[in-house]
Amino acid sequence: MTDERQDSCPICKLKDYGIGKRSSGGDYIFNCPRCKNFIITFEALVDTENQDPIPKLSAWIRDFNEKRSGVPEIYRESLKEIPASLPDYSPREKQTKLLQNIERKTEYPGKPVDIVSKHDIPLAWASTEEEFLYYINSLIERGFLKKPFPTTLSSDMPFSVVITANGWDYLEERERHIEERTQAFVAMSFSENLKSIYEGPISRAITKAGYKPYRVDAEPHSDRIDAKIISEIKNSRFVVADVTEQKLGVYFEAGYALGLGLQVIWCVRKDDLEKVHFDTRQYRHIVWETENDLETRLYDFICAIIGKEKEV
Ligand SMILES: [Zn+2]
Repeated sequence: MTDERQDSCPICKLKDYGIGKRSSGGDYIFNCPRCKNFIITFEALVDTENQDPIPKLSAWIRDFNEKRSGVPEIYRESLKEIPASLPDYSPREKQTKLLQNIERKTEYPGKPVDIVSKHDIPLAWASTEEEFLYYINSLIERGFLKKPFPTTLSSDMPFSVVITANGWDYLEERERHIEERTQAFVAMSFSENLKSIYEGPISRAITKAGYKPYRVDAEPHSDRIDAKIISEIKNSRFVVADVTEQKLGVYFEAGYALGLGLQVIWCVRKDDLEKVHFDTRQYRHIVWETENDLETRLYDFICAIIGKEKEV
């Protein structure tokens, strides 16, 4: 691991000459045809040796490159933490993401977009080319995409696709539903001890990232989620769930949001971590000790995973 030049990608394991090189600072800079640009520390690079590809991290890096300016930095912890904090997208969600990525690459409606399946797997958050081509075919079958030229879809040959009128309708409908939402639903205990946490760090972090924090005014009378809560979760872009004090309502609300396919950001105060319900431990939690700590990490997390909202 002392050579200056790396000929395969540490994240997706794609091999291609000249894929990465060492920077003067000691980190490695990669320009992978599949993941695109990222910086990785030497320690993280060593950890990826003899490891399997990490498709979710590859998709996250690609998404970062596609959507935002800047190059993501991968640290040793990121190798596990980023994939663990991302949801497992359903086949339907992967198709939607793929269609949205094709939309982003479409210069104007009707203009074909070139796809190289070997390199474009992350656009569908797929693990293999076979899975990727399956989603392309599904979008064609659903009438959202078409092939402008009669080519067979294969992994070796680039091919073109065009978004159909139905595809544009579908995208517009979805945008209205999710992308335009700016509310962040906060699920947490209503105890006096934690009151300042909502008003202080949680609200500040959400606001600074460009979203509007929302919390229901009072603890629900029962553990059932009422209609108001359901509609506010449905109106939200993502949910912040602080499970400190282990209130059942928080788990119900977060579970409901996950069922809708919304991203849930889990937080817990350090001295409460051991009590976290077993079935949510699989998700990474922001484990905080001080208000300051919570504010900074929540803000960074929102920017990295959800994306900072553009100022209008
Ligand atoms: Zn790669």
